[in-house]
Amino acid sequence: MTNIKNRYSLIIVGAGPAGLTASIYASRYKLGHLIIGEDLGGLAFEAHKICNFPTEKEILGMKIIEKMQKHVESLDAPLIIDKVINIVQKNKVFEITTQKGKIFLADALLLATGTIHRRLNLPNESKFLGKGISYCATCDAMFHQNKTVAVIGGGNSANTASLYLAEIAKKIYQIYRKNKLRGETEWANQVINNKKIDVIYNTKVIGLKGKEKLEKIVLTSPHQKAKEIAIDSLFIEIGTVPQKILTEQLSLTTNKNHFIEVNSSQKTSRNGVWAAGDITTASNNFHQIITACSEGAIAAESIFKFFQEKNK
Ligand SMILES: Cc1cc2nc3c(=O)[nH]c(=O)nc-3n(C[C@H](O)[C@H](O)[C@H](O)COP(=O)(O)OP(=O)(O)OC[C@H]3O[C@@H](n4cnc5c(N)ncnc54)[C@H](O)[C@@H]3O)c2cc1C
Repeated sequence: MTNIKNRYSLIIVGAGPAGLTASIYASRYKLGHLIIGEDLGGLAFEAHKICNFPTEKEILGMKIIEKMQKHVESLDAPLIIDKVINIVQKNKVFEITTQKGKIFLADALLLATGTIHRRLNLPNESKFLGKGISYCATCDAMFHQNKTVAVIGGGNSANTASLYLAEIAKKIYQIYRKNKLRGETEWANQVINNKKIDVIYNTKVIGLKGKEKLEKIVLTSPHQKAKEIAIDSLFIEIGTVPQKILTEQLSLTTNKNHFIEVNSSQKTSRNGVWAAGDITTASNNFHQIITACSEGAIAAESIFKFFQEKNK
């Protein structure tokens, strides 16, 4: 592994598609930088099948991340797995503290921290996490051979989760609060035509029941009495939300849903701080790998120009 120093021109927080792409560009601009990621790959790692990334007709999310990682490493960029827990700015220099107690200094900062899974916020949800509740079909589907499972949601994540589970499980209930599936028509059609998947529209999950593990979910729909169905596991795929901690520490301007406002160069409201990927309001809020990569590239170029100006 490349030697880790204490001070860098640029620190990239986040090792998903946005952060890794920014690093590739930063390396080619010879910008001294460090990537700090709580994990490698972020949400992209969880995607079961990616069929919309140019050059890859069909690829596992983890495979695409592995390729990006190899590209980053081939350019000798240092990457550490750790969580950034605090950022302060002192005399124009950013001081970044990680969960493992390391402190790094940087002149510029790129936040590429993505989003995390949205929760239902129902009683027992945390209690049953890993005991019948999962937010990642790609990670947990393999434990459900011939089981009966439910997926909540009606967008791409829920649709692809149901389709993946249908390759393994016996029966899938996909529960959606609206009357028509969203997301890519191709995925939605595959769900509707899959005999193992029963889509239950206009319905919400309002209760999670069980002793040691999840055993039943309680469903409600307009004009009908609440009913329970027995399942082995529940996959919650109802979208993602940004984390606010670092954004608030840096007092960055966000929209009302806490996505970071950026300009066309991915600059945030604070001098010296850029943001890229799912965490931002850019790319028409189209949160995809290709848009995250594109924002990472734009940010790196903008940061390069920032240093060029600074060093004139
Ligand atoms: C199930 C599923 C299927 C999907 N399928 C597709 C698809 O088919 N095609 C497609 O284009 N997109 C797909 N997506 C969307 C795609 O995964 C995202 O748009 C993409 O991953 C966004 O990249 P990102 O780099 O902005 O964020 P992420 O990939 O989420 O990466 C964020 C990174 O930031 C790190 N991080 C966060 N906070 C901190 C911190 N405090 N300190 C250090 N590191 C931190 C995380 O650990 C992670 O490394 C899918 C998403 C899901 C959930």
